[in-house]
Amino acid sequence: MTLPYAEPLTVIDPAELVIPEPPRRGEEGGEPCFPCSAGSDSNLIWSDQHWTLHNPGRTGLPGSVWLASRAHFDSFADMPAEVASTFAEVCGCVERAVLSLGDVGRVHLYRWGDGGAHFHVWFVPRPLGRLDMSGAYLMAWEDALEPATEEQIAGAGRKIATAMKHR
Ligand SMILES: [Zn+2]
Repeated sequence: MTLPYAEPLTVIDPAELVIPEPPRRGEEGGEPCFPCSAGSDSNLIWSDQHWTLHNPGRTGLPGSVWLASRAHFDSFADMPAEVASTFAEVCGCVERAVLSLGDVGRVHLYRWGDGGAHFHVWFVPRPLGRLDMSGAYLMAWEDALEPATEEQIAGAGRKIATAMKHR
């Protein structure tokens, strides 16, 4: 795997510590929670009792989607048991739905959690044969690739939604 930048890259020192850390979206004192807002319905492509699945606003890798819990909790550490019991199954369904797009080498699952305090995970397809984009470098490439058009993102989302309904 390689970074999408020419050598030589240089190592820099870490920035100063920021403690206490500023509130994230959805935390007291922070910006409003996006998944809890009506605005999150605008890119909704599928949902069930516990989960909602969304298109991204922007990506260089169409077929990327994010899965959020309906309930507002932060992470695995405070995930209600009845939601946790469905997580692996819904992740498997989303993975199969993204694979059904074709020309997908692997589907990567990311949980970052630094931006918003409402549980969500990302599914990001690595294009078939793009071994240079393997592993953690996929997101560096995602940032450097030409952004997909709204229609490319919506079209991939429609196919994923159809596959989710027929799971
Ligand atoms: Zn929320």
